[in-house]
Amino acid sequence: MLSGGPSSTAGVNGGPFLTPDVAVVGAGPVGLAIAWRCAARGLRVVVHDPAPGSGASWVAAGMLAPVAEAYFGEHELTGLLTASAARWPAFAAELTEATGADLGYRTDGTLLVGLTADDLAEARRLWAYQQGLGLPVTPLRPSELRDREPALATRVRGGAFAPTDHQVDPRRLVAALRTAAVRAGATLAPSAVDRLSDLDAGVTVVAAGCGAAALAGLPVRPVKGQVVRLRAPGGVAPGFRHVIRGYADGEHVYLVPRVDGEVVVGATVEERTDTTVTAEAVLRLLRAAVDLLPELAGYDLVETVAGLRPGTPDNAPILGPLPGRPGVLAATGHHRHGIVLTPVTADLIADLITTGVADPLLAPFTPDRFTTEEGNPWN
Ligand SMILES: Cc1cc2nc3c(=O)[nH]c(=O)nc-3n(C[C@H](O)[C@H](O)[C@H](O)COP(=O)(O)OP(=O)(O)OC[C@H]3O[C@@H](n4cnc5c(N)ncnc54)[C@H](O)[C@@H]3O)c2cc1C
Repeated sequence: MLSGGPSSTAGVNGGPFLTPDVAVVGAGPVGLAIAWRCAARGLRVVVHDPAPGSGASWVAAGMLAPVAEAYFGEHELTGLLTASAARWPAFAAELTEATGADLGYRTDGTLLVGLTADDLAEARRLWAYQQGLGLPVTPLRPSELRDREPALATRVRGGAFAPTDHQVDPRRLVAALRTAAVRAGATLAPSAVDRLSDLDAGVTVVAAGCGAAALAGLPVRPVKGQVVRLRAPGGVAPGFRHVIRGYADGEHVYLVPRVDGEVVVGATVEERTDTTVTAEAVLRLLRAAVDLLPELAGYDLVETVAGLRPGTPDNAPILGPLPGRPGVLAATGHHRHGIVLTPVTADLIADLITTGVADPLLAPFTPDRFTTEEGNPWN
């Protein structure tokens, strides 16, 4: 074990009371997956959260998109996204096996499209960068696009196919992870943690999403995202099967179709801390969505919602031991990528806890990269 280890102290009634090996703060996808992995290795795990699954994951679209999300200047993050996406098939199979749950995991791939010539020019710059990294992005002519997805607007000027960018339903994922963690022996404590010093455990994992800032002083800031959920009328599946990510008259929009008829249309990216849904955002998202896929205008509007991504100064997660805080690990700051990064985060943090050895994959993402000459910002 990394620190502490199984121990026994006197309980409130004088009987033996086993201190948990691992206390996880936050029952979002990241905290629950870590709890599942640790409990499955025989550790005593308690997960603290007054409202499991109520954080960013409740709003998230669930794209598993290491290719489409490979942006300029984020080379190391792209490597982690790719490593985690590669773990997704086995992770999904194992979670389904452990729970019997349907995760809404789909591997149809993602179409990247541009509505106008300007949109296409912008998109092509990014595709060229992604291809230069060796990532699978295949340009498609308009006719090839519509062969794959006949519901696309005839105005769409061109696009590309990212076959390895998949999707999962985050709400189903979190419910399944909760079941798996409990079945593996983890305990859920339905309470907020105000101070880490209140916890008595061998190792404490801060997996509280945006809550990590107040709890551990980590440089995590909320980045607001608004989404709209539509539903195909008549209880049928949507009239398209790929995730579609597009540029439409300068607006960036994605459309994520679920087998149960839901379509997630997202998302705004706003440096704000509120979760108000605005008419302007809904209007812009729906206009861009309908421009790309006209039949969406006839779908039912079932939900508008906003959530807060746990963003960091370099857009990458914060994973590993907190300097100056023995026995405390961070697993937070997953920003736009917490769903795709869930498997690799859970595996690497559970490995670190059980063996004390950090996988080299963690090296670029440790908390000490934010240490200043004056000292740690969270000390
Ligand atoms: C609009 C939008 C779209 C997104 N789309 C995608 C996508 O397509 N693909 C993708 O990979 N990611 C996506 N994300 C990002 C993803 O949702 C997050 O990165 C992910 O949810 C982070 O998981 P988490 O478990 O760290 O945090 P969260 O999901 O935010 O969960 C944190 C949990 O911690 C609990 N908590 C907080 N403070 C405390 C405390 N003091 N004590 C106890 N519990 C506490 C909260 O109640 C919550 O349950 C999207 C996010 C948004 C907002």
